[in-house]
Amino acid sequence: MKYEPVIGLEVHAQMLTASKIFCGCSTEFGREPNANTCPVCCGFPGVLPVLNKKVVEFAIKAGLATQCKITRSSILARKNYFYPDLPKGYQISQYELPVCSDGHVDFELNGAPKRVRLTRIHMEEDAGKNIHDAHGDSSLVDLNRAGVPLLEIVSEPDLRTTEEATAYLRALRATLQYLGICDGNMEEGSFRCDANVSVRPAGTETLGTKIEIKNLNSFRAVERALEYEIQRQSETLNDGGTLVQETRLWDEHREETRSMRSKES
Ligand code: ADP
Ligand code: ZN
Ligand code: MG
Repeated sequence: MKYEPVIGLEVHAQMLTASKIFCGCSTEFGREPNANTCPVCCGFPGVLPVLNKKVVEFAIKAGLATQCKITRSSILARKNYFYPDLPKGYQISQYELPVCSDGHVDFELNGAPKRVRLTRIHMEEDAGKNIHDAHGDSSLVDLNRAGVPLLEIVSEPDLRTTEEATAYLRALRATLQYLGICDGNMEEGSFRCDANVSVRPAGTETLGTKIEIKNLNSFRAVERALEYEIQRQSETLNDGGTLVQETRLWDEHREETRSMRSKES
């Protein structure tokens, strides 16, 4: 059977603000670990976040550039998870009423116009970084990145080839760079992407089981990982197997994806 890939991307773009999203700490890259921290971004008890005005301006700018609806009233939400790089025990993100919704990105591919719809754009804070294997059998935590502002840009599953996926990413990145919202550096992690991909029998409408791929830090990685995953899913189905909704990690050296955790709906 011939299968058609369906791809939707979730992009995280680090915003080019001088200070973090909820405190006055600097966002400067490459400083000594934990130099850019304060009680707010370290998650001390009793502190209160104050939203950075520039973050809201950048989010609205990004939404206007992609023909989104800009909400009049927006809500920030706590996304709870427990991990050492997240000292509060929750990430401040948006769930209901994201700042921007229902937009689109237009670009050309091989001379033909293509439109990808955007579900939403929301503001959130980045986590810190855990450094393993650098200090005997313990792990180190650097909170310089904790509280650095991010835009999360979620596309509808409108992409049909890996070529379309990278062309969309380039168009979106160019827009954010032009507006001065993000430097677009994928290798340094200031423009990151999680790729969601499923396959379905060519000519059918129902969406297949979605796999989310993480750890994509170059355009090449996005391409290779999607190609690998499309082939893996098609072969599994052709062999009579079934797919489970899960998150998989791209292993750049072995050039394969491997299961990280199963993901509920
Ligand atoms: P989650 O709740 O896991 O974040 P969402 O429904 O919010 O899932 O979708 C996340 C991303 O996955 C979006 O970019 C969306 O376009 C894409 N997506 C959703 N369903 C599918 C599918 N069946 N195949 C490919 N991509 C999908
Ligand atoms: Zn701080
Ligand atoms: Mg989602």
